[in-house]
Amino acid sequence: MPPDLDTWILDLDNTLYPAGSALAEQLTHGILSTVAGFYDTDLVGARRIQAELVAEYGTSLRGAMVTRAIDPHEFLGFERRIDYSVLTPNATLATALEALPGRRFVYTNGSVYHAEQALARLGLTTHFDGVFDILAGDLIPKPYPESLDAFLTRFAIDPARAAMVDDLQVNLTLPHERGMTTVWVSGEPVPDGTPYRRIAPRQWHAWDLPAVLRFMVAPADI
Ligand SMILES: [Mg+2]
Repeated sequence: MPPDLDTWILDLDNTLYPAGSALAEQLTHGILSTVAGFYDTDLVGARRIQAELVAEYGTSLRGAMVTRAIDPHEFLGFERRIDYSVLTPNATLATALEALPGRRFVYTNGSVYHAEQALARLGLTTHFDGVFDILAGDLIPKPYPESLDAFLTRFAIDPARAAMVDDLQVNLTLPHERGMTTVWVSGEPVPDGTPYRRIAPRQWHAWDLPAVLRFMVAPADI
């Protein structure tokens, strides 16, 4: 691993907490209920519409804004009803983040409110230098280039010295092309006790996020 990484960019949902958490369940239900309300349908209909919106516009939120001129803050109102206490502090991850040299950012397709609530419950708030959310990206989400460019510009990030961590491979394609180091966090169980593997010099697949972060900054110790 090149020793010159000085920026660490982490996705929030299903990355800083596991994919199967009760929070993910609440988010899915919150979004579907919201879509059902705005599009005057039931949850089954909402699921279909949501899939179409995501396929066409990247996120349900952007799709709702473009197709129905829905106010984003009104759309995100469901977040205020989420019980974030289902998340618990992750001291292992906090320690691994703290050991990363340079700056650390959360880059999420959710909102700053959602990120702040989740980070507080995970005990990770003080370990990040900033959050870039869907509103900061003018509602254009990952993996659109406009989103990545806006994020890199906002924080003056050199892609060659940055590592990006996400649970969705589609969000890592462009960062990889831009020369960033990428870490795909898989939600599957760790196979054979292997916490991570290196796919290419600057590409990682990790089942255990704290473990791969520790290795990336201290390979000589292994
Ligand atoms: Mg995610």
